This record gives sequence, C-alpha cells and structure tokens, in this order.
Amino acid sequence: VKSIAVLTSGGDSQGMNAAVRAVVRSALFHGLEVYAVQRGYHGLINDDIRQMDLRSVGDIIQRGGTILQTARCKEFMTPEGQQIAADNLRKRGIDGLVVIGGDGSYQGANKLSKLGIKTMGLPGTIDNDIPFTDFTIGFDTAVSIVVDAINKLRDTMTSHERSSVVEVMGRHCGEIALYAGLASGAETIIVPEVEVDISEVANRMKDNFSHGKRHSIILVAEGAGTGDGIAKQINEVVGIEPRVTVLGHIQRGGTPTHNDRILASRLGDFAVRRLIEGDSSKACGVIKGELVATDIDLVVNTKREFNKELYELASRLSQ
Ligand code: ATP
Repeated sequence: VKSIAVLTSGGDSQGMNAAVRAVVRSALFHGLEVYAVQRGYHGLINDDIRQMDLRSVGDIIQRGGTILQTARCKEFMTPEGQQIAADNLRKRGIDGLVVIGGDGSYQGANKLSKLGIKTMGLPGTIDNDIPFTDFTIGFDTAVSIVVDAINKLRDTMTSHERSSVVEVMGRHCGEIALYAGLASGAETIIVPEVEVDISEVANRMKDNFSHGKRHSIILVAEGAGTGDGIAKQINEVVGIEPRVTVLGHIQRGGTPTHNDRILASRLGDFAVRRLIEGDSSKACGVIKGELVATDIDLVVNTKREFNKELYELASRLSQ
C-alpha cells in the first residue's frame, strides 16, 4: 500500500486518539500518505476525508473521546453504501484502511476488504468484549474510573454502615465489573456470564453486617441487570435498602491511562506495518504481551471467553 486512511467507529473509548496518532505517525514514518475519515463509515460514504500530517495529531495522546468523531451508520450496512465508501477511498488512491472500533465496526472493515480495500481493525471499546486480544483500548481507563468511584463510595458507605449497588457498563460483557470488582474489593460481582442467586447474595450481606462488616458493595454489569432491579430484589429478601449508583457515560470519558496509551500506540503502529506487508482483513490485538493479527472473520464469529479464574479469585477474597 502507498496510501492509507484511519477512522473511529461505534462507541468511543479513551485511547482512540492515541491510536489515531500512532497510525498517522507510523504511516508517515514509513513514507505513506495518510488520511483521516471523519465520523466513521458515515464520513466514508459522504467523502469526509482529509489528508493528515505530523502536526494533525499533535496534543491528542492524552485526550479522551476521538478527534475523528464516531458514528453509527445504517447506510453502510447496505452493499450500495459499502460500494460508495470503497469508491471514495479508491478515487483518492487510498488502498488501506485502519478501523478503530468494536465488533460491528470490524464487520464493516471485513466488507470493505471484499471490495478490494486492505483493512485492519483495532479494538477500540471500553467493554473488553473482543476476543483474540487480552485487552481493548479504553478498558483499562474505564476500570480505573470505576475503581476510583468505588473508593469514594466506600468512604461514605463505611461512615453510614450502608450497602451500595454500583451499575457499570460493558454491554453483554462482564469484564469491567469483574476487573473493577476485584480491584476494589467488591463483596459481590454480578455479570451476565455467571448466574447468581440474589437471595443468597442478600442473605450473605445481612449475615456480614451482623458479624461486624461496615459496608457492602455489589457491582452489577449492565448486561446482567440494573442497579435498581438488584437493589429492589435485595430489599425484598432481607429488608435492607442498598443505595444505587449508576456510573454511565462517565466511564467512557477522561484522559486515558498510560496502559491504554501504550496499547493504542503499539496496535496503531502494528496495523500500519501489517498493511505495508500486504496483509488485510485482520483484527490486531495483544496476547500475553505479544502483538497478534487474527482474521476478522474469526474474531467476529468467536465469543470472548470470560475469565472464570479471576472471577473465582474475586469471590474467594471477598468473604
Ligand atoms: P461498540 O461495541 O464499542 O459500540 P461497534 O463497532 O460494535 O462498537 P456498532 O454500532 O455495532 O459498534 O458498529 C459501528 C458501525 O459499523 C455501524 O453503525 C455500521 O455502520 C458498521 N457495521 C456494523 N455491523 C456491520 C455489518 N454487519 N456490515 C457492515 N457494516 C457494519
């Protein structure tokens, strides 16, 4: 490839900017022309594409969100939309594309590769729901935001001897709840991947309070239920009324952690190098510290395995 483009798509995540910066700077370093597409696939269809230079990505590594903005684009789901997008790239001589997003965005990249555009996907989502990478870009930051929030809640919970239910994001995936729960010492972690008996949770909470525990934090992943729903069930079983905190989009904002910036930088550079080698239709990731590229087809058709070991550890340590 001689000329590539980069876009961000789907939900935004912290570290997307660091990934864009890495793609642009690495491409320029290797002598490629590099373009940015505004608003994901929407911008591809509407030809909202501009050439980037070294300075276009200055002062963004530390910023949350994405300077390229992101969108969900219905028109791109159609073969006609995909053809317009591919034609818009080709007419500028762009033959490679880096897509930063979640699995929907990956499927879009796969479609473009079938129209002759060489594509690479980078996992940009806080949810950590993509297989063939240990972590997605934004996950580390989202988890640290949740942990920080729970630290604050703990102070006031302990003072009032109260219980708290904290609802976190993650869509159908429990990874944010799992990592944040383990890191913050939550008493119970409720995730879609593991069935829990709320009566048992409620009774244990009551028991713990009667044995001198001064606070209780239950983390619930949005894919497993709502904070309000879980609090109501606990109240029905043992008559304790936990306070509910829904963290919401706070989890997707703010400056990325150094882990997310480094992950994004490594992956952005890797995607560019793979494109230069002529590779296409791959999703990039890091497994046990090593950079890997896996067929997008396989990635979008594989369910990420839940980290049972970590879940059991969290349970053992939260007695
Ligand atoms: P996140 O999970 O973080 O929200 P995502 O990439 O999964 O990110 P989606 O809304 O699923 O978010 O996908 C983003 C865009 O990718 C869609 O709006 C659409 O334009 C495109 N897309 C999704 N699925 C397909 C598909 N099967 N074929 C072509 N394009 C698709």
